[in-house]
Amino acid sequence: MLSMHFEKRVAVTGGAGFLGSHLCDVLVKSGAQVLCIDNFFTGARSNIDHLLGQKNFELIRHDVTFPLYVEVDEIYNLACPASPVHYQHDPVQTTKTSVHGAINMLGLAKRVKAKILQASTSEVYGDPHVHPQTEDYWGNVNPIGIRSCYDEGKRCAETLFFDYWRQHKLRIKVAQIFNTYGPRMHPNDGRVVSNFIVQALLGRDITIYGDGLQTRSFCYVDDLVDGLVRLMATADDVTGPVNLGNPKEFTMAELAATVVELTGSRSRIVHRPLPEDDPRQRRPDISRAQDLLSWAPRTNLKDGLGRTISYFEKLLSEQGVKNLLAGKLPV
Ligand code: NAD
Ligand code: UDP
Repeated sequence: MLSMHFEKRVAVTGGAGFLGSHLCDVLVKSGAQVLCIDNFFTGARSNIDHLLGQKNFELIRHDVTFPLYVEVDEIYNLACPASPVHYQHDPVQTTKTSVHGAINMLGLAKRVKAKILQASTSEVYGDPHVHPQTEDYWGNVNPIGIRSCYDEGKRCAETLFFDYWRQHKLRIKVAQIFNTYGPRMHPNDGRVVSNFIVQALLGRDITIYGDGLQTRSFCYVDDLVDGLVRLMATADDVTGPVNLGNPKEFTMAELAATVVELTGSRSRIVHRPLPEDDPRQRRPDISRAQDLLSWAPRTNLKDGLGRTISYFEKLLSEQGVKNLLAGKLPV
C-alpha cells in the first residue's frame, strides 16, 4: 500500500555506513521510499536510528554477497568496507562483496528494470601516473598487493556494470568517489581524517605515515552525496564513470597541521612507516561532473573539518574514550 504514495522506491546497499546513512537522509527527505540494506560489518545502527521511525524508511539486514528479491526503481550500490584497515581485515570477503555484491545487485536491477549506481572509487586509478586523474585514465594498480582486494574488486565491479549495460541494456551510473570525510565516519577505522581528529582530541601523537608529502583531495560528505543524487538523476545515456571529489589537494603533513590548528591540540606529530602500495598523489579532474551534473563541491576543508571535529567531540563526551575507540571491529 505504502508504495502507492511515494514517488519511487530506492534501495541503498551499505545504507548504515558513513556515506550510505547520509544518502538515506537525503533520499528520505526527498520523499522517496528508502530501503536500507546492510550487514553491519562496518556500518552502525546508530547511523540510521533517527530514520527508523519514518514511514518511508525500511531497514533490511542482508549481506549483498547473497541474492536479494525486492521491488525497487533505483539502487545505489555502496555496500563495501572503504577504510584500508577494514577492507584488509578479511580481503577475500572484500572481493566477494564487490564482485558477488555487484552481480547480485545488477541481477536485481535487471529483473525489476531498476536504474543502478555503483559507488566506485579513486582506487581504480591505483598509484596514478596521470595527475590529476581523468576518467579516461586506466590506472596503475597492483593486482596482487594488500590493497588489491579492494582496488581490483571495484575494477571488476565496474567491468560488470558496463557489461550489463552493453549486454542487457541496463541503466547504469558509475561514480568514482575520491576521499570523503565528515560526521559518522567510524572513529576507529584507520582513515586519515578520523585518525588525526581523534588523536588530536585525545592529545595523543598524530601519526603521519611516511614523509607526509603524499597527497589526497578531501570532499565533505554533503557535497559528495549531492553528486551521487545528481548522477542518478541524469539521462539514461549517461553511464559515467564520473569522478566525484574535491579537486583541492593537500599533503598529509598539511592536513595534520590544519587539524592541530582547528582543535587547538597539543599533540605531537610523529612519523610511522608508509603502508605498502600507498598512492603517492591523488586529485580528481572533475570537469565531467561539472559538465554533466552541474556539480562542484562547495565546502572548504576548514569548514568541513570543523563540523567533523564537533561530531567527534560530541561522540567523545557521550561515549568516553574507551567506548569510542573500542568499536566492534577487530582493528
Ligand atoms: P563504510 O564502511 O562506512 O560503509 C560501508 C557499508 O557497507 C557499511 O555499512 C557496511 O556494514 C556495509 N557492508 C559491507 N559489506 C557488506 C555486505 N557484504 N553486505 C551488506 N552490507 C555490507 O564506508 P563508506 O565510506 O560509507 O563507503 C561507502 C561506499 O563508498 C563503499 O562502497 C566505498 O568503496 C565507496 N567509497 C567511499 C569513499 C570514502 O572516502 N568514504 C571513497 C571511495 C569510495
Ligand atoms: N595516513 C596517515 N596517518 C594515518 C592514517 C593514514 O598518514 O593515521 C595516510 C595514508 O598512508 C595515506 C593517506 O593518509 O597516504 C590517506 O589514507 P586513508 O587510509 O584515509 O585513505 P586512502 O589511502 O585509501 O586514500
